[in-house]
Amino acid sequence: MALIVQKYGGTSVGSPERIESVAEKVIDWRERGHQLVVVVSAMSGETDRLIGLAKAITPRPTPRELDVLLATGEQVTIALLCIALEKRGCPARSYTGGQVRILTDNAFNKARIQDIQADAMRADLDAGRVVVVAGFQGVDGDGNITTLGRGGSDTTGVALAAALKADECQIYTDVDGVYTTDPRIVSDARRLNRITFEEMLEMASLGSKVLQIRSVEFAGKHNVPLRVLSTFQEGPGTLITFEEALAVESMEKEQISGIAFNRDEAKLTVSGVPDRPGIAFSILGPVSQANIEVDMIVQNIGHDGTTDFTFTVHRNDYERTLEILKDHAARLGAREVSGDNRIAKLSLVGIGMRSHAGVASKMFEALGKEGINIRMISTSEIKISVVVDEKYLELGVRTLHEVFELEKSV
Ligand code: ASP
Ligand code: MG
Repeated sequence: MALIVQKYGGTSVGSPERIESVAEKVIDWRERGHQLVVVVSAMSGETDRLIGLAKAITPRPTPRELDVLLATGEQVTIALLCIALEKRGCPARSYTGGQVRILTDNAFNKARIQDIQADAMRADLDAGRVVVVAGFQGVDGDGNITTLGRGGSDTTGVALAAALKADECQIYTDVDGVYTTDPRIVSDARRLNRITFEEMLEMASLGSKVLQIRSVEFAGKHNVPLRVLSTFQEGPGTLITFEEALAVESMEKEQISGIAFNRDEAKLTVSGVPDRPGIAFSILGPVSQANIEVDMIVQNIGHDGTTDFTFTVHRNDYERTLEILKDHAARLGAREVSGDNRIAKLSLVGIGMRSHAGVASKMFEALGKEGINIRMISTSEIKISVVVDEKYLELGVRTLHEVFELEKSV
């Protein structure tokens, strides 16, 4: 007998019929002798609809009240799922985040989980009940309802699995696993049987939308075995696992596991600034003071005492960053401030890169042959990212998928 936490996303519970088929899936697992804790999202589109209602009143709703509103979406689905389970004779009990007591900090709209009370859920499981918990929500120390940020139900699932020391956390979604890249761009993209936490974390932060980044971090930190699978078709999905488990087969481990990409970036360049100590801070200080997150940074080698400084930010922050830099240009002694928000980042991810030289040159050669100009490069042990013009993104992804033969499994 295993204790399994299952999380079903919005599409999986998008209609009463779908909720009934989730109930049947859950009962199937229970009849195989397992204990089940089920986390559900709001019905698909519901969270957006609720945000829309608030925004119809004001563009900036009070964060506390927005959370009171958004938490209702998941309260609907826990009740409906329990109704469907009980109709089938399966004892079940629903819990909102506050009822479990998923304690969070008080950062409304993006709260972090601090503690989970597992006793009541354990008692239910021992009494043979299925426990159904609302994803995406918790309660702060003063009893205020909080939410965990968009996609937060993944994190609820993982956090419950950690608190209950579950044998596995299964994330059911509308795709049947994690792919080498987005199958909408590369038709022969391949489902990975396994991927390491490190790789998954890179994939998630570099633009793959399968799992909320925070849930992957949480799973890695608390050693929660995580599996992504489809609600709508049978299959093993993708197991997100620890590197140790893969080390044995590392000889055969492919160099690259996947290609992530995102179009959400913009780049800014400050040219002709004096090349002296402290210049990076003088440029980026005001940017970070405005709470704008900076991603890639490149500083060119100085010539005639000046240097060029380029960095990327989220595309939504582009205009504001440009304004800040222009305001400071004179003080910095910069010749020019310029920018481009039609760029995209594409990244190769793989722990196999560590032990294989030449991945980067193979990547650059392939992009060059296609006439794709690389604007910026950044690397870590397990990833290489390049910034290219947005119009080349899809060609770049297809080219690299082919050159690294990601459609073939080892
Ligand atoms: N319903 C929330 C959202 O749409 C949380 C989730 O689905 O994970 O972001
Ligand atoms: Mg989701």
